[in-house]
Amino acid sequence: MRAYDSNREGPEERNGRTLESARRERGLSLEEAARRTGIPVRILEGLEKENGARVPGVFDSRVFLRNYAEALGLDGRTFFRRDVVEPEGVSEDPPEARSEKASSPDADRPIMVEARGVYKSYEAEEITVHALEDVSLQIEEGALVAVMGPSGCGKTTLLNVLSGLDEADSGEIFIAGEPLHAMDDARRTEYRARYMGFVFQGFNLMPVLSAVENVELPLLVGGAGVSAARRRALEVLDQVHLAHRAHHRPSQLSGGQQQRVAIARALASEPAIVWADEPTGNLDSDTSQEVLDLLLRLNRENGQTFVVVTHDPGVGTRMDYTVRMRDGRIAEQPESSKETASGT
Ligand code: ADP
Ligand code: MG
Repeated sequence: MRAYDSNREGPEERNGRTLESARRERGLSLEEAARRTGIPVRILEGLEKENGARVPGVFDSRVFLRNYAEALGLDGRTFFRRDVVEPEGVSEDPPEARSEKASSPDADRPIMVEARGVYKSYEAEEITVHALEDVSLQIEEGALVAVMGPSGCGKTTLLNVLSGLDEADSGEIFIAGEPLHAMDDARRTEYRARYMGFVFQGFNLMPVLSAVENVELPLLVGGAGVSAARRRALEVLDQVHLAHRAHHRPSQLSGGQQQRVAIARALASEPAIVWADEPTGNLDSDTSQEVLDLLLRLNRENGQTFVVVTHDPGVGTRMDYTVRMRDGRIAEQPESSKETASGT
């Protein structure tokens, strides 16, 4: 949690400020703020009214709060501090307690990802492949979840459909309570850019760009200023211990380092959810461990939700729990497949 403390602004500025006053100072209507941030008016109202300390539903998320503050041109980190945003008389767990809780599925925690009766099939040469059949699941905010199952069982399809990269044939998908299935393409793309990060097996880095340029690219596309994007990109590269390789191109980096750049890129915009499809699939076992350790550390430090597809049982046992798939269905519900971190 310490990573979000900021010494850049004095306590006076932190304490006197509310999100609403900051928005008004900038002459923004609630509608205009909603348009700029892509956060629905209803949610913004909640964030403002409670000053972000306790908003009904999953938008009680530091990531959303910080995004909103930054969209208003503030230092989001100052709004990250619970002691600042908490209304009087409301007692909350200290951040440390929260991050400890994040290590097990918790009925009290808000749901970040929910699928209800999702179907997805592909038409392939005369036959229909039923890639997902009646998939329902819930993933709590801040959870680190493994999705496992034999090749072809639908793991990639599940990830693509849950993240809105691909559209389900039927069923409902909610991300942080928002109905992804009801959004049009443009809205879904924007939502993805704002709230989701992706890590793929093949890294998918741009070969002609340096590490830092790869990381800042989505920030620039998302409208960040050049110097802010560069500062943030260097900050996340440092978080994945690659600051010293910032100006190297992918071809000058090892596989593990390339994947760390890809992870930094996924994290740069502070997504609420990080989707990773076989992130260690192209790496040797030592490097896999290193990348996995990194994902675990980032999940703990940032409180983000991680959904990681893997066929590596060693990876699965280190996650909070495993969603098992077979033939396009959830084979075991998360509650019954809780695994200990012992790996035995
Ligand atoms: P996994 O990631 O678990 O290996 P996938 O989700 O990639 O599985 O695939 C699930 C099933 O859907 C497989 O039978 C696969 O062949 C099929 N499939 C995936 N994508 C397509 C596609 N674009 N066209 C046709 N069939 C597909
Ligand atoms: Mg796959």
